[in-house]
Amino acid sequence: MPLLVMKFGGTSVATLDRIRRAAKRVGREVAAGYDVIVIVSAMSGETNKLVGFVEETSQLYDAREYDAVVSSGEQVTAGLMALTLQEMDVPARSWQGWQVPLKTTNAHAAARIEEIPTDNIMAKFSEGMKVAVVAGFQGIGPDGRITTLGRGGSDTTAVAFAAAFEAERCDIYTDVDGVYTTDPRITGKARKLEKIAFEEMLELASLGAKVLQTRSVELAMRYNVRLRVLSSFEEQSDEAGTLICAEEDIVESKAVNGVAASREEAKMTLISVADRPGIAAAIFGPLSEAGVNVDMIVQNISEEGRTDMTFSCPINQVARAEKALNDIKEKGGLNFREIVADTDVAKISVVGIGMRSQSGVAAKMFKTLSDEGINIKVIATSEIKISVLVDRKYTELAVQALHDAFELEKA
Ligand code: ASP
Ligand code: MG
Repeated sequence: MPLLVMKFGGTSVATLDRIRRAAKRVGREVAAGYDVIVIVSAMSGETNKLVGFVEETSQLYDAREYDAVVSSGEQVTAGLMALTLQEMDVPARSWQGWQVPLKTTNAHAAARIEEIPTDNIMAKFSEGMKVAVVAGFQGIGPDGRITTLGRGGSDTTAVAFAAAFEAERCDIYTDVDGVYTTDPRITGKARKLEKIAFEEMLELASLGAKVLQTRSVELAMRYNVRLRVLSSFEEQSDEAGTLICAEEDIVESKAVNGVAASREEAKMTLISVADRPGIAAAIFGPLSEAGVNVDMIVQNISEEGRTDMTFSCPINQVARAEKALNDIKEKGGLNFREIVADTDVAKISVVGIGMRSQSGVAAKMFKTLSDEGINIKVIATSEIKISVLVDRKYTELAVQALHDAFELEKA
């Protein structure tokens, strides 16, 4: 039997009525001859509520108990989806992560998937079960306890199942009808992309496009899973949504295919650190150990053997970064005059695989921003991306101007 993975996000299972509509879509694929693995999120708002309970109960919570609480939302929707399918005479059964068992690392609240044995579920398919409904976002760690995969983790569950079961496709049903050139709330000119390369999607996801968890795109790229993002709110054809696929499947690519904005950035500067071998390691080693996700890094020109080091990180990690740096200073591992945190910035990025072969993209980006009077604070580039930090109040303006400059409204 050909096999499909269909994942339904929180808004697509937000009510019993929405669950019924999702189940109908599943029923159609079963009627078309597929065995289906359905991955469900918690009803929308549910995970936030559970996280809130945990944080209110315990500030420095035990991550194992956090996982015990926040994984429960998916347990509910998995059972309800299986019941709904049964009501429609579709043979279905629900599976919790531990029942599969979806084995993960021990990193509670941010676990990574290690293995998905297929035998349990395959055995049920061969007994006539048509749909396995699996609770997304959760697994079981080597300590035998429930783990979760980080916020948005059900996307990763879905892609991992598609890879493990060699599914024909992995369809991600959500409340948007695909991947857009930029956030449609920022500009009405945002255009839905028919196809996007794994690498571009990876950049956009990690830059804050909230459609897919970054990790899920990484996995899809590694295992070449054909991934489709589409809306569960509209009736649509088989070609609907956006296909995320290998670069070879995209005939011609513009220099820039998307503009991303992340408002949750902070710019940190260490003033007056010694400019000598080992200093970057002395700074970024402890930051990484403290779990700070450093993105852009700039080392300024040095004067009399001292320099300033600037980096960006998510705004909610500023306190953690400051603590890690002050700790290492106290221990004598690093010397600096002060830390200056600018929490009023946004990161704006242009992304496109076409950048590899076309020049002038950076120049055009900088000129566009300067024409709008927007000052650039930090610049970083990769092969297929250029990112800048600007004052947060310019986020919309910068995105709109760049979207126009690179003519992203045109296919
Ligand atoms: N329910 C989890 C969350 O809200 C996982 C998911 O929906 O992907 O993050
Ligand atoms: Mg999501």
